[in-house]
Order: sequence, then structure tokens, then C-alpha cells
Amino acid sequence: FLTGKTALITGSTSGIGAAYATALAGAGANVVINGFGDAAAIAAQCAALADASGAGATYSDADLTDVAATERMVAAAADAFGGIDILINNAGTQHVAPVDEFPVAKWDLILALNLSSVFHTTRLALPYMKSKGWGRLIATASAHSKAASPYKSAYVAAKHGLAGFQKSVALEVAQRGITANVISPGYVWTALVEGQIPDTMKARGLTRDQVINDVLLEKQPTKQFVTPEQVAALGLFLCRDEAAGITGANLSVDGGWTAQ
Ligand code: NAD
Repeated sequence: FLTGKTALITGSTSGIGAAYATALAGAGANVVINGFGDAAAIAAQCAALADASGAGATYSDADLTDVAATERMVAAAADAFGGIDILINNAGTQHVAPVDEFPVAKWDLILALNLSSVFHTTRLALPYMKSKGWGRLIATASAHSKAASPYKSAYVAAKHGLAGFQKSVALEVAQRGITANVISPGYVWTALVEGQIPDTMKARGLTRDQVINDVLLEKQPTKQFVTPEQVAALGLFLCRDEAAGITGANLSVDGGWTAQ
């Protein structure tokens, strides 16, 4: 149902972003992936996406903390496929430390990538959607857009900001055939979660197993990690015409975390 549509998905060389790309390509969309990683692995990912969609798949290596690189990425995506219909802002990073010891450079990075980059891609992609009278703006927020955890001040601030930003955009484009929503996963087993285990062990004085079971899954009543595919399935649904009435929403896929 996405044949002829083009999706730009940030942070899609791994984890949740890669799962969104697979889901949208499976529905026939052209996809533009972005993020860092091994060149051969990324080429293989693009080939597999094009194979699945029977459409196009290209890659941008833009560092989204660089505004000029972000502008080049959006322009190249639109040039390649004649516009951008779906923008999934998914790139994000995390750092775990007490606020009075939080490295200033990490604060700046998290705000730039998890929040400001979404402003830039949105302002750049939106004119293409407005010109067609159809569009989908989706962002991966987090349970941390609704609730806080200690030692994650920058991430919690950025994700709350992202959810607010997306609501504001939803109101601006509500009568233009464009929806804007955030999806808020709980803990999903990806490189991002694995990467924060050592710092959480240090910040809280715990073993690896204690961090997984007593800190991460402690939040999640299901006691299961969410999967990237479960998050991507909701993203795919938001692209359907049947989802036209869902806008300005913050949709949880968090195993019950924020029900508590
Ligand atoms: P991941 O580390 O597997 O993927 C992150 C992606 O972003 C990668 O493709 C990476 O190359 C890319 N990236 C990193 N820095 C970048 C930069 N400066 N410019 C461009 N791309 C960059 O992580 P993930 O867990 O799949 O996270 C994806 C999103 O989901 C993030 O926004 C994250 O905050 C959010 N999220 C993750 C979880 C979780 O438990 N994993 C939970 C809630 C929300």
C-alpha cells in the first residue's frame, strides 16, 4: 500500500530504525536510510530493502547534529524519488550519569540529535508533503517522553521536548492531509540499550544481570523486552490511510511501563 511513496528514516542502519525500513519497504515504499556503520553491511541492507520493495533504497551518511549535512540529506532524498511522503525521525543516543556530573558535551549531543535534528528534518521535509496534500511524520520518542528515570536528565528532557514538538506540528498541519505522532517504546533490546549497561552498572554499583532484571525490566510489567519489529509494525500502521485520524498522539509500546 506504499507503492509510489518515499520514506526517509533517520538512524536506520541498526535497531528500531532498521526495522521501520524493513517494514515500509515490505509495503512497497522507496526508502532512504541513514546512520553510521560498516559500508558493506549498509550496502547489503540497501540491496535487501530494494529487493523486498521492488522500489528504490538509498543511503545517507549525514551526521544529524550537522545542520548542513541534514539539509543535503533531505534534498538528496527528495531528488532521488521526487519528494518525501513519510519522515520517520528515529536517530537517538543516550548517556547515563548523575546530573551534577553529566558531561556538558553529552548534554549538547543528546539535545542536538534527539531533539533539534527533528526540527531540522521536519522543517525541510514538510514542504514536499504539503505540496502533495499527504504526509506522515513519525518520531521515535520513548517511555521517557512520559516518565523519568534518574541519571537520564538529557534524554528525558529531549524526549519530553520531542513529544511536545510533534504535537505542535500536528496542529499546524491538521488540515493538510498530514499526521504527526510519536511512538514511545519501553526497553527494546538494541545496541542503544546494551551500550548503557556498563554506565548504569557504574552509576548504581550493580552487576550486569542486576541492571537487566532490576533496573531495565523492573520498569516493564511484561518482564519482556519490546522488539524492534513490534515498534515498526505500529509505524507502518500510522502510514495507512485508515490512520488519518490519529494525529498529535503519543503511542506507547512499553509493556505496560507507563500504565503504572
Ligand atoms: P541504535 O543505537 O540501535 O540505533 C541508533 C541509530 O542512530 C543507528 O542507526 C545510528 O547509526 C544512528 N545514529 C547515531 N548517531 C547519529 C547521528 N549523529 N546522525 C545520524 N544517525 C545517527 O538504537 P535504537 O535503540 O534502535 O534507538 C532508536 C531510537 O529509539 C532512538 O531515538 C532511541 O532513543 C529510541 N528508543 C530506544 C529504546 C530502546 O530501548 N532501545 C527505547 C525507547 C526509545
